[in-house]
Amino acid sequence: MTKILVIEDEQLIRETLVELLEAHDFRVSAVENGRIGVKVALSELPDLILCDVQMPDLDGYEVLQSLRQNVITSAIPFIFLTAQSAKAEFRRGMELGADDYLTKPFTKQELLGAIASILSKREAITQPLTQALQQAEARLNDLVNESLITNTISSEKLALEVEICRALAQNEFEVYYQPQVELATGEIISAEALIRWNHPEKGRISPAEFIPLAEETGLIIQMGEWVLLTACTQTASWINSGFINFRVSVNLSVRQLSDPQLLLRIVEILKVTGLEPGNLELEVTESAVMENVSVATATLNELKSLGIRIAIDDFGTGYASLGYLKQFPFNCLKIDKCFVSNVGSDTHNKAITTAVIQLAHNLGLTVIAEGVETEAELDFLREQQCDMIQGYLFSPAKPAAEFELFLMTGKRLSSPSLMSRSSRVVNLLPQSEKEKSNQFLPSDFKSSGFIYK
Ligand code: C2E
Ligand code: CA
Ligand code: CA
Repeated sequence: MTKILVIEDEQLIRETLVELLEAHDFRVSAVENGRIGVKVALSELPDLILCDVQMPDLDGYEVLQSLRQNVITSAIPFIFLTAQSAKAEFRRGMELGADDYLTKPFTKQELLGAIASILSKREAITQPLTQALQQAEARLNDLVNESLITNTISSEKLALEVEICRALAQNEFEVYYQPQVELATGEIISAEALIRWNHPEKGRISPAEFIPLAEETGLIIQMGEWVLLTACTQTASWINSGFINFRVSVNLSVRQLSDPQLLLRIVEILKVTGLEPGNLELEVTESAVMENVSVATATLNELKSLGIRIAIDDFGTGYASLGYLKQFPFNCLKIDKCFVSNVGSDTHNKAITTAVIQLAHNLGLTVIAEGVETEAELDFLREQQCDMIQGYLFSPAKPAAEFELFLMTGKRLSSPSLMSRSSRVVNLLPQSEKEKSNQFLPSDFKSSGFIYK
């Protein structure tokens, strides 16, 4: 049964709303002020909130703001009820993230119509996920029966597969956010969303343990969709709090990239969460792209035409031809941490990283170095004009609430201090195009997994 929370200080209106909604089979909680409303929203997690704007103490705008800032309540659909009909008030409510706005007096049909329209939008996004989970569970039952007969699947794998299904249904997964920092300013301008599994008995399980199996079984589709929905909801909430240029980067698996429903689902997720396409980046690995080049090219082109950014992940590890870099619509290239590791001293890694940064810049791509752990690596990347870094040196991935503190406190990478000021200035001067084109790729480039065309 759909749960609705009514937050309204006028007793008569509150009681009328409760009566009307209960008569239409909704389960209703009603409270008389905003402060209690926020608490009840957190404890009951209603499917929809109807909230008066003008209330003493915490008004409707403050209630909405508080709900949108909390990851648990940020996605609850919200309708304002108000006597105000001024356009400015309406705009303020919608800018804060309200889903609709009813001006009093409204008719029963108007109210029920607004509720039905919002709930059906929400259903459009959650129903396929629920159905997919049910299908996955049914498939697992078949699998268990089959394997009992044929003994084809290892019991460990099967157990993990069953566990993943259960964990998806019971909300044991969480999205962590790892800051991506711009070297020119030291500021966090985006974050990579990384899934974590908080297993009730085994504790934290690394994605390296469960992503490959989820990929093998197809569960990655539901899992990836859940990550997208969670990360987009959270990012929309940060953007509503004022971090307007902030962007989130979400990993797409091989299966997701070849899923014919992908585009449609992403469009739906953006619509429901209110996130602008420009605030979303999708990371695809070389191997995912190479698996089916024509499908990947078409899908990535469509995603890019919506305004979504595309990053090539783990660059250099997938044995992809460098020629393909031109063919795909990438905005960003992520240099894998195996090349970044000890890049200040390892001559092999130095040569590869330098060449990759130059190549990416020549193709107009932003470059992110992954897995930056030391000051020496950072110094080298700065010298080579790498655009952004991500790594334990600045911060590992953090839960949403901890990452939010980074944004709120303006955590940033400290400016270079070890090198002399003059050498810094020289190192940070942009390279001329001529200089760039005169660079050649080192001979050990090919032996590192790259095929240069
Ligand atoms: P990835 O996409 O290459 O993500 C970067 C990984 O490097 C993350 O591991 C991150 O925690 C780790 N990392 C970041 N900075 C450093 C550093 O300075 N040093 C070292 N040693 N490691 C660092 P994580 O979170 O364990 O994820 C592992 C992989 O699992 C990811 O590699 C990605 O391929 C996959 N994964 C994680 N979340 C998702 C997801 O939501 N969807 C999909 N499809 N894959 C995911
Ligand atoms: Ca990634
Ligand atoms: Ca990576």
